[in-house]
Amino acid sequence: MEDFDFSGKIVLVTGASRGIGKEIAQKFASLGATVVGTATTAEGASKIEESLNGKGFGLVLNALQLDTVAQVVDQVVEKCGAAPDILVNNAGITRDTLFMRMKDVDFDEVIACNLTAAVRLSKACIGPMMKKRAGRIISITSVVGETGNAGQCNYAASKAGIIGFTRSLAQEVGSRGITVNCVAPGFIETDMTKVLSDEQKKAYESRIPLRKLGQAADIANAVVFLASDWASYITGTTLDVNGGMRCA
Ligand code: NAP
Repeated sequence: MEDFDFSGKIVLVTGASRGIGKEIAQKFASLGATVVGTATTAEGASKIEESLNGKGFGLVLNALQLDTVAQVVDQVVEKCGAAPDILVNNAGITRDTLFMRMKDVDFDEVIACNLTAAVRLSKACIGPMMKKRAGRIISITSVVGETGNAGQCNYAASKAGIIGFTRSLAQEVGSRGITVNCVAPGFIETDMTKVLSDEQKKAYESRIPLRKLGQAADIANAVVFLASDWASYITGTTLDVNGGMRCA
């Protein structure tokens, strides 16, 4: 499909070593992009590079080290010769517990990784995008950022923050040809959700109108769509990819 040809585009995907980020990175690479994916370790970064099979690079990024987060964009320029055309803020963590028991560090780290790091990366990419008068910023939020969830005050706040950030930035940079959007997954089968018991998974499934859990590819498809020319008139939105969880 011509409009899903990303040849000549540089895509930066954070948290590309596993789960949703890995699928997003592979999808863009298969559609012709040069992909830079990040992991928290050197080993993870070299595995990403291997799996991209000459179609990109792996870099180390620890989103909790906020002062150095933006440096990854300089490294993309070094490796690829230009800043990212498409930024996918995917890296995310959970530190679930009821609010009364939640330690400050668990709140602060989830906000740092899921929200502040994404903001810093967006800031590092936006200058070059404005110069080019083109660009795409796509952040992975969550259905929980829209609905809230007991035991996830930190995570829900970080994901709701991403949605507000996206809506605001979209208004600031739309005139420069840059779109800013979110994808909100529901329950996707990855390491993040492996911790749930079969009973908990069944309970989730019964609340999903499509009666099944989502796959990383479902999210990657939505991200690629938002990055494509087909979505050139879509900005400031949150695309729900959750099997209908929000309408149930
Ligand atoms: P995952 O399987 O746990 O993978 C997390 C990714 O983030 C890994 O690549 C990991 O790198 C990276 N990461 C972890 N801590 C990091 C840090 N401090 N700095 C930078 N990168 C870090 O997660 P996932 O399920 O694919 O989730 C991806 C995104 O989708 C997240 O933003 C998540 O909140 C969101 N989401 C997921 C679901 C779901 O049901 N799975 C639902 C809604 C939203 P390492 O391999 O090096 O640790």
